[in-house]
Amino acid sequence: MNPGARIVVLGKQGAGKGTQAVRLSRHYVVPHVATGDTFRAAVRSGSEFGQKAKHYLDAGDLVPDDVVIGMVRERLHRDDAVHRGFILDGFPRTVAQASALMEIIDPHPIDVVLNLEIYTSEVLGRLASRRVCSDCGANFSVTDNPPRVPGICDVCGGDVVQRDDDTELAIRRRLELYERETAPLIEWFEGRGLLTSIVGRGTPDDVTRRLVLEVDRRKIRPDVG
Ligand code: AMP
Repeated sequence: MNPGARIVVLGKQGAGKGTQAVRLSRHYVVPHVATGDTFRAAVRSGSEFGQKAKHYLDAGDLVPDDVVIGMVRERLHRDDAVHRGFILDGFPRTVAQASALMEIIDPHPIDVVLNLEIYTSEVLGRLASRRVCSDCGANFSVTDNPPRVPGICDVCGGDVVQRDDDTELAIRRRLELYERETAPLIEWFEGRGLLTSIVGRGTPDDVTRRLVLEVDRRKIRPDVG
């Protein structure tokens, strides 16, 4: 079996993080830890936690660091993540979250931080056509990759919908927060020798091939399995 991996995927909204993270998690047989998916599931469940998170998500604002960090800590301490690794998608988003991540996974290093690069002009079109499964989180696009049956998820049969936060206002807010809070992480990880930037353009298969090549080149973890 593939020996696992510890990967962080960075990139602005619409860069293809979710699509590529699902593919990498299958390839390396590791859990896909997507904080946005976890928050959306909590909102759907109607729990008190979900009701609190909903305000942040709808506005396109970041959920406070201590809440997100606590959630990721709990997830990464579970057996599958400890033994096989993880693909982190949507976390970290601030320098405080990145520092907390290093502490959470200590003493095991991250293999690589993949920075999916794309122009803002390209992501706006992608976000407008993006649809997601409200049950399993699978990503679709009404223009490039529609579900086989309109409105129904190919993977699990759930409802395929537009995300509540894919409105023009919330998208603008999220991109603004990306530039202010998350873009500085590129330098932060670069300074630690962990970052690789990959062009996010092309077909999903092209991008996956580029990412896997890069991960395999950087992976130095013969002890995991
Ligand atoms: P995403 O699916 O990654 O675009 O995340 C959707 C929303 O969930 C974001 O706009 C935030 O409101 C919240 N969220 C997800 N991950 C984080 C994080 N690491 N820190 C703070 N808020 C987050």
